[in-house]
Amino acid sequence: MKRIASFSVDHDRILPGMYISRIDGDVCTFDLRTRRPNCGDYMDNRTMHSVEHMLATLLRNGEIGESVIYFGPMGCQTGFYLLTRDLAPETVREALLHALEQTVAYTGDMPGAARKECGNYLNLSLEDAKKECAAYLAVLKEQKGGFSYAE
Ligand SMILES: [Zn+2]
Repeated sequence: MKRIASFSVDHDRILPGMYISRIDGDVCTFDLRTRRPNCGDYMDNRTMHSVEHMLATLLRNGEIGESVIYFGPMGCQTGFYLLTRDLAPETVREALLHALEQTVAYTGDMPGAARKECGNYLNLSLEDAKKECAAYLAVLKEQKGGFSYAE
């Protein structure tokens, strides 16, 4: 079997940040890396799940909502994938920064946190989502350069 593109990146060199993972026509897959790979520091499931509920909801309800194809966690527990259609990376970055800020400031009920809305509805925590999003917000604000893995 062919090795897929995302396995071809040297994960020991990926630092937390926002990267373009791949481009398929007008669909761009962003690697939203919240933790450094293979360093013993991983998101727990409740954190990933909670960030998924918040950012999927806020991104789809925001300025780029119509162009969001998918948002969800990586199984390796070190980041998320965001797929968008026909948008400039800088536009996506701005929308992501806004959604992260909205999560940090959020005071309502967790979206989709009812039994009928989610497959594991008790495994959610707004506080966990806020903590992860605040940390990632700081990372993105510090990130220099473009969206390429290569430094
Ligand atoms: Zn859920």
